[in-house]
Amino acid sequence: MAWKTLDDMDLKGKRVLVRVDINVPMENGEVTDATRIERIVPTVDHIQHAGGTVILMAHYGRPKGKVVPEMSLEHIAGTVAEVLGWPIVWANSDYRDAVKELENDEILLLENLRFNPGEETNDEGFAKRLASLADIYVNDAFSAAHRAHASTEAIAHLLPSCAGRLMQEELSALENALETPKRPVTAVVGGAKVSTKLELLGNLVSKVDNLVIGGGMANTFLAAQGMDVGKSLCEHDLADTAREIMAKAKAAGCAILLPSDVVVAREFKAGAAHEVVAASDCPADAMILDAGPRAVEAINAALGESQTLVWNGPLGAFEIEPFDRATNAAAAEAARLSKAGKLTSVAGGGDTVAALNKAGAADDFTYISTAGGAFLEWLEGKDLPGVAALKG
Ligand code: ADP
Ligand code: MG
Repeated sequence: MAWKTLDDMDLKGKRVLVRVDINVPMENGEVTDATRIERIVPTVDHIQHAGGTVILMAHYGRPKGKVVPEMSLEHIAGTVAEVLGWPIVWANSDYRDAVKELENDEILLLENLRFNPGEETNDEGFAKRLASLADIYVNDAFSAAHRAHASTEAIAHLLPSCAGRLMQEELSALENALETPKRPVTAVVGGAKVSTKLELLGNLVSKVDNLVIGGGMANTFLAAQGMDVGKSLCEHDLADTAREIMAKAKAAGCAILLPSDVVVAREFKAGAAHEVVAASDCPADAMILDAGPRAVEAINAALGESQTLVWNGPLGAFEIEPFDRATNAAAAEAARLSKAGKLTSVAGGGDTVAALNKAGAADDFTYISTAGGAFLEWLEGKDLPGVAALKG
């Protein structure tokens, strides 16, 4: 590993500035899902038990460099204390005084970083001000690592730095899946549109052995091969791009798996009348809403021969039944193989996580990334500034 972890740091008696993502959903002043706070517990506990003092820093919402009272982290300080099980002191902009007054075991929570315009501009001065509070910097916010901000990038050059437990877990899972994977590697890429995942597809064809293309984006590939996709969601203007991706895959020795059969319907609604047809036989007045049973068999066969799976994007319109069937069936097979120790499976993406949860498969996947944008940028092969800075 190219970055340090908490195990490499001497934390005793040190003040440790920890960048976390506690951007939790709230309704009527109450936190409705504390998962993001729960996930930083291992890092916080480790530092506190090792005799360090944790100073938490985080963003909340998009205040754009101004003080927006509704986005103050003061509103969630109570929940943070409850979930972490340590006393929390909240500090507005008088960080220094607050640090001096910290008592035994107390954790300091700094006000929303994005109230300061220097945060999002990666301002050296703001980073220095933050760094002056502590002896060590820990980044535990992989989900914010795709942004070069003062608290994720600049600060890492000013203090001895390392990855927190959550960051470490996420990076190891991702490296195991794409940088140093056991082969063969299969990627499943689905979702609505090719246009949102062009860079991702371009990167994956040079890294994986099989690329399963599903969801609405498969229609664009089918159409690019001359098939009539009727009224399906399809980006006809991307036909050339789709053909280029297929050519790049061929040159790289990556097999592309498109659905051989599909589920079509005339309406986009739950329980709509539907039928299974060959991918080349979509009726002119119908739309493709899911992959068919033969396609699922081929996908599951590919999974059975693979050692590693990376998954982003559902195979069909999984929100409306019965067009969740292909996604559910492939997810169940991936879960089964993972549970049996035969497959390392990593998945991420907002709708993907929802779909795998709905399929009841998420718990058996090797790793589910909740990082959203950072996960996608990593699949695109981009260097994430927050991760690169930890290596430097
Ligand atoms: P993620 O958020 O995991 O990256 P996307 O946002 O790219 O995934 O894609 C999810 C969306 O793709 C879902 O809303 C799903 O309904 C839609 N989708 C999948 N297959 C089809 C299809 N054949 N036709 C229309 N929409 C589809
Ligand atoms: Mg989405």
